[in-house]
Amino acid sequence: MRSTSVVAALVAILLSGEAAIAQRGMGGTPIKAGEVCPPGTTEVRPRNCQAPEIAAPSILDYRPKSTLVVPAHMVKMAKYPAIDFHGHPQGLLGSADGLASLGASLDSLNVRMMVSADNMSGDRLKSTIASVKASEKMKDRVRILAGINFQNVGPGWAAKAVAQLEADVAAGAVGVGEVGKQFGLSTRKPDGSRLKLDDPELDPIWAACARLKLPVFIHTADPEQFFHPIDYTNERWLELALFPGRRYPQDQYPSFETLITERDNLFRRNPKTTFVTAHMGWQANDLEKFGKVLSEMPNVYTEVGAVLYDIGRQPREAHDFFVKFQDRILFGKDSFQPEEYPYYWRVFETKDDYFDYYRGYHAFWKLYGIDLPDSVLKKVYYQNALRITPGLPQTGWPK
Ligand SMILES: [Zn+2]
Repeated sequence: MRSTSVVAALVAILLSGEAAIAQRGMGGTPIKAGEVCPPGTTEVRPRNCQAPEIAAPSILDYRPKSTLVVPAHMVKMAKYPAIDFHGHPQGLLGSADGLASLGASLDSLNVRMMVSADNMSGDRLKSTIASVKASEKMKDRVRILAGINFQNVGPGWAAKAVAQLEADVAAGAVGVGEVGKQFGLSTRKPDGSRLKLDDPELDPIWAACARLKLPVFIHTADPEQFFHPIDYTNERWLELALFPGRRYPQDQYPSFETLITERDNLFRRNPKTTFVTAHMGWQANDLEKFGKVLSEMPNVYTEVGAVLYDIGRQPREAHDFFVKFQDRILFGKDSFQPEEYPYYWRVFETKDDYFDYYRGYHAFWKLYGIDLPDSVLKKVYYQNALRITPGLPQTGWPK
């Protein structure tokens, strides 16, 4: 009896991989080390995949409720008055009613000032500034960035563009932007070639921005996953499936890498111009790499709009990054949805664990607070924007 069980044990040890699993009665599909499970199955034990007995829901319908109980601090209003450097106030600036509604929304969030990044120029810029000036309550709470028209870049373009920019600054513009993602991705020159971000024909306009002390707010590329195949390993699969316009098939568009390289060349060849790269340069998922950009080029700043999902999933790394580059980061929100701002305050100001982001299709994960010190919050919320944008109202801010 004793010798039989020893033999059985030896046999069990000698059996490997699928045979051992079969012996334990696991069933399922074996895979080799390094292989992934076949579709419809998951790895339930090392190298053994199994399908659920109950039909699996689609990713749209699987909404597990967290049972984690931890302290939660909702932050409705920013701790210090904020400047939203990435404002798209969607037509609210053109009328007294619109401005009143914008003011009420901003008050409820403690956003003191919105910088409109809607590429206004010429008459539209003038009439919008007139509308803002006419509002007693809002005249010091909105400022406008001017747009640059990148169509037909060629001989004569720069002189015209600089003249228009000077006129827009005379009318009250305080910076340039948002230079849109089309610049680099799809804007063409008259000969049909793609207008590269670092095209030397553009240098006079960047020089003018430096001379006129205008920060250039620029959105380059898009999340890197938008440039990748839309397969089930893509973190943004759902977003790409929902929004066809966000797909950049590589036979039609430059690569993410190409755009970031051209962007950095642009920053490098214009060291006297202040650039604010929107959305943390779409590199918030690789802060080490992005930190090198900021370290190398002191004329480059960044803005946090629409990348909270990347900041909030790496609370320790992000905390250290914000502390290290505290003089270079500006608050901005992008899409104007007042109910979404408090998520930013909560990530920046608390050390809360594991809470929801506001858009499920952006992020299949939870966020964590990065617990920034007050001195850093003040810089990110308003001091950095004030310093690089002389045209913003500079008085009345907390020390
Ligand atoms: Zn924008």
